[in-house]
Amino acid sequence: MSKFIFPTNNIDDIKSAYDFVVIGSGIAGMTAAIQAQELGLDVAIVEKQSVLGGNSNRASSGMNAVETSVQLEHGIVDSQESFYEDTLNGGGGTNNKALLSYFVTHVESAINWLDKHQIKLTDITSTGGMSERRAHRPGDKSAVGSYLVRGLQKQLLEKNIPLFNDTRVVSLITDNHSVTGIKLTTNKEMSFEISTKAILIATGGFSQNKSMLQEYRPELVHLKTTNHPGATGDGMMLATEVGAKLVDMAKIQVHPTVQQDTDHVYLIGEGVRGEGAILVDQKGCRFVNEMTTRDQVTAAIDALDEDGATLIFDQSIRDAFPAINFYHAVGLVTEASTISGLAKEANLNAESLSRTITDWNDYQKQGLDTAFGRQTGMPRGITQAPYYAIHIKPAIHYTMGGISINSKTEVLNKDNAPIKGLYAAGEVTGGLHGDNRIGGNSLAETVVFGRQSGKQVAKFILKL
Ligand code: ADP
Repeated sequence: MSKFIFPTNNIDDIKSAYDFVVIGSGIAGMTAAIQAQELGLDVAIVEKQSVLGGNSNRASSGMNAVETSVQLEHGIVDSQESFYEDTLNGGGGTNNKALLSYFVTHVESAINWLDKHQIKLTDITSTGGMSERRAHRPGDKSAVGSYLVRGLQKQLLEKNIPLFNDTRVVSLITDNHSVTGIKLTTNKEMSFEISTKAILIATGGFSQNKSMLQEYRPELVHLKTTNHPGATGDGMMLATEVGAKLVDMAKIQVHPTVQQDTDHVYLIGEGVRGEGAILVDQKGCRFVNEMTTRDQVTAAIDALDEDGATLIFDQSIRDAFPAINFYHAVGLVTEASTISGLAKEANLNAESLSRTITDWNDYQKQGLDTAFGRQTGMPRGITQAPYYAIHIKPAIHYTMGGISINSKTEVLNKDNAPIKGLYAAGEVTGGLHGDNRIGGNSLAETVVFGRQSGKQVAKFILKL
């Protein structure tokens, strides 16, 4: 695949006024900008980092959707009701039901919208807590986040939508409870204001902000995070300064499978388990249904009270999840031609690891995991040498809480009334996921609610 580098716009060319300014160049922001421009608005995107795409760029497993033609082509008959139930169960029943209803009824059109914009998610895999295969991904099974980011950037270019990077929004300007503009600073220490009729806050979460973590979940501060450096919760601060309400701020997701033995922190995508990997403890024994929700897998790893746990898989699983080639290339994977060799390399008990794998292969063949009740992510056994192991530990991954919005993505104040002209979408918002987000629902959220913002802002400004 040829490397596509998005040409950002020169800050000297920024205009003094736009209909709509989008803060953040992740998938929520780009989707909203494209949708709004297609409906007739003059739009600009501002991004504080040099690197574009935020955490969206890092998503690896898939984008959940139901009742799509892709599911049917894979012989999967699914329903919005089942997607709703699984997401609600995953969130401990605490999800915002209005947002959840809008979400499950608009994911199919989100996939179709992407398809119409030359972004094709034609393959499908599983994530933890989902009763069906719903995680849509590119046909070559490559990482979905960067594929989506690139595809949307190509649309920005085609549509001449300007994107200014190294440009941070420091405050929102309101007049008489309506949005009128934003204040910006550039990396050249230049500060200025531009006026706008509407703003979308699409600035992502706060997993990199130690003082916010300290305020909301002090017991997590010592953990590492999978997030990009710009995930510092700016959007929550911008919104509260103009009267917005925050919800669910203490709900923070700790992802179970993160490799952190080097200077870098690498998320090992849930798709590795979705394609058949198991998790074992130091003895080489399984200890959890690997495909339950992230909060439960993390709790089971913590309960071992060992130094994390180990993912075990084989060549056929590696072939089904090409991100493993990357993990391998950067030295995160231990490899051996036999199970006992792998146990030795990975410091596990060889006898119990071989027994674990023999038992697991039986469960997989029968489709019945009598040990831990796993029902998904069992498309193949662990039978094809070479065999592989990755040492993992939990790390902070996603902040479920954030700005309170309604299903039109309007930002709500403390009386639950919309702040005129102010919208928010993506990880910066709170409520959709409840206590725990299901893998694959974040990308789906960014496209569904990003599009919704673009539509609602156009309706608000153009009175459509
Ligand atoms: P989502 O998944 O919700 O789209 P991402 O994390 O992918 O969120 O993207 C959010 C983007 O917003 C990141 O690229 C981040 O650097 C950017 N951002 C965060 N705060 C600001 C700010 N104050 N001004 C401009 N951009 C910001």
